[in-house]
Amino acid sequence: MTTYQRFLAGELRVAVLTSWDDGHATDFPVQGWLHELGLSGTLFATTHALGAVDGECRQDAVPVVSEAQLLWLGQQPGIEIGAHTHGHICIERIESAERVDNLRLCKRKLESIVGKPVVSFAYPEGGGMDEQKLSECARDLACLGFKSGRLMRHVAPLAIGELWERRFTMPTTGELGDMPVPQIRAVLQDAAARDEQTVVHFCAHSSRILKKRDHVPPGAMEAALRALTENAGDYSRDIAWFCTQGELTAALEERFGPR
Ligand SMILES: [Zn+2]
Repeated sequence: MTTYQRFLAGELRVAVLTSWDDGHATDFPVQGWLHELGLSGTLFATTHALGAVDGECRQDAVPVVSEAQLLWLGQQPGIEIGAHTHGHICIERIESAERVDNLRLCKRKLESIVGKPVVSFAYPEGGGMDEQKLSECARDLACLGFKSGRLMRHVAPLAIGELWERRFTMPTTGELGDMPVPQIRAVLQDAAARDEQTVVHFCAHSSRILKKRDHVPPGAMEAALRALTENAGDYSRDIAWFCTQGELTAALEERFGPR
């Protein structure tokens, strides 16, 4: 049985996701750590500046992955490429027509580069707090063929049924680099102790390895990832499904979706 089937059968009790925003070249060491630890990750890329230097904050500028690098990353096991808009646009703040154009452009561009469907999305700036706007975004994402949209809004691990209901405004558990390892262990322990299957989803910015502001030493990022693979109370890697956002939503669609 594959891990996907073992999760659907209920044998793997905790889905553990990592996702990395902005498609910076610092996703390369991250891919190495994920591979070494047997973890999975969704890399959310923008498409306006591939191969350039992200100009958003010059003193902290980090190179953006090139098309060739994105192709390579997308071919690695356990790695999914997801969309993060064309120009790092807060899609909840623009009108639907512009939003749809932007999302379609980003999705098509990424699909032409990686040669696979791009079905997962992450809201730039984490998504706003306006629920009405977010539900409009959710509708547009679904129309364009996306299967999920991830916010950066931290909540306790959700049961899989609730996560399915909120798949287009998917909350996160915490940000790697901010949450100390003992707290990560406590979250995993709590998730494993529930009597239903749960989802633990850590978002992150790999660029923080290099940035002066909000700097996270590489060792701390790696230690946080390692904690996801270590025993904590009822939690162990034997009950975890290390999956991408796309794999999780595919499994939940099979479980809860229309038949
Ligand atoms: Zn972003």
